[in-house]
Amino acid sequence: MNLNPTLWIGGKAVQGAGSFAVTNPADLSTIAQAPKASAAQLDEAVEAARAVFPAWSGLPWAERQKLMRALADAVEANTDELARLLCLEQGKPLKGFAGMGAGFEIGGTLAWMRSTAELALPPETVQQDEAVSIEVHRKPIGVVGSITPWNYPLMIAIWHVIPAMLAGNTVVLKPSEQTPLTTLRFAELANAILPPGVLNVLSGAGELGAWMSAHEGIDKIVFTGSTPTGQAIMRSAAGNLKRLTLELGGNDAAIVLDDVDVEAAAGKIFATAFINNGQTCAALKRLYVQDGVYDALCEALAGIARSVKTGNGLAEDTDFGPLQNERQLKIVEELVNDARARGARILCGGERTDTSGHFYPITLVADIEDGAPLVDREQFGPVLPIIRFSDVEDALRRANASENGLGGSIWSRDIERAEALAARLECGTAWVNHHAVIQPNAPFGGVKGSGFGVEFASAGLQEFTTIQTRYVYRNP
Ligand code: ADP
Repeated sequence: MNLNPTLWIGGKAVQGAGSFAVTNPADLSTIAQAPKASAAQLDEAVEAARAVFPAWSGLPWAERQKLMRALADAVEANTDELARLLCLEQGKPLKGFAGMGAGFEIGGTLAWMRSTAELALPPETVQQDEAVSIEVHRKPIGVVGSITPWNYPLMIAIWHVIPAMLAGNTVVLKPSEQTPLTTLRFAELANAILPPGVLNVLSGAGELGAWMSAHEGIDKIVFTGSTPTGQAIMRSAAGNLKRLTLELGGNDAAIVLDDVDVEAAAGKIFATAFINNGQTCAALKRLYVQDGVYDALCEALAGIARSVKTGNGLAEDTDFGPLQNERQLKIVEELVNDARARGARILCGGERTDTSGHFYPITLVADIEDGAPLVDREQFGPVLPIIRFSDVEDALRRANASENGLGGSIWSRDIERAEALAARLECGTAWVNHHAVIQPNAPFGGVKGSGFGVEFASAGLQEFTTIQTRYVYRNP
């Protein structure tokens, strides 16, 4: 295990100008000192990325594809070590509830790497006749700055950098200061494969992200994180008109109609609300349930909640780990305490018992209404508000009365009606009878306060390119 992490600049391991401690959220011990990059080191990384850009973007597409496949092989060969590092720094269990822990993140990472590596962006012909040929070509943008969060450190880094590099861009990647270690280890593996300067990785806090957003040598920022930080990035990106892809917060609503099979729905609802301990952008975060099945669904969910175990993710039988950091833990605690003070009914959890790490139990809160912060704000943790409704139109209105618009779902046996309702949800991804499911071959992105631009598939790859339309007249 690499516990002497370094920055990666121009293909070389470089000591940070400073350092900072990385904490294990399960026992609050220090795992390692991570390197802290200075503004001068960012300049060096950008310079290295710019220097190699002509050669990298000039490679045939198939050559870059081969290298992307090789990166996936390198991740696969180091699965156990990467999963353990993820568990230590992020908190997620090695195995976890329904097998959706660190191993699941590595599996997803590989699936996205391999699926993305097979994409291509051939030119489109608009017109072809004796006089003229008009084609639309895609060109890489230049240097892409990638800023990632702490919930899925490796998978989200891959979502950013693989399509960026495949399209011919070079990259400066900054992991979250909460979880830099897995990404720095990936940087080491990648730099043994890629030409120097194609993938530079710098760790540091928010100020490094702010320097990147304002840097004249960076042409695009792809960011996954909170809405306020996305807004700050957008403001500082104006200087050189940086292109932006912003995947921001979500407060996804699910609307459950009273014709559902309660037991079957409860299993999926639980899994998609508490995926990664609720620390997932597109997790199910507000559960609207129609009168007829409200009590039965509450009971079914509470039954599952009572059967799961929260603890240190290294233990085989742990379903859910700690929250990743203390700030998030405090947010969750405050939201639940506020809900309790308003008279909401805590079906399970709601009190910390294990304080040896950032643990908070799986918590279900019933008899709560819109207007309560637990409903209106993104909790990003292991607590789910369950709101009762009788009129479907009213539920739809409440679901859409949010600044966010990442995902949403409708649950019913009447598929046609459910899809018609899903189409009216104001969000980038809508599900019928599921939630939070994403695939590398389907675009994913938010509307409203959840950001703009999409990731994955051809549409996601296009975000790392600009269009050049070519008119070629045959006669001068
Ligand atoms: P959270 O509040 O949950 O930590 P953030 O959106 O602040 O989420 O963090 C996501 C990423 O954004 C991290 O890598 C963080 O260091 C970075 N970041 C924080 N502040 C800024 C900023 N002002 N500009 C650019 N990046 C930032």
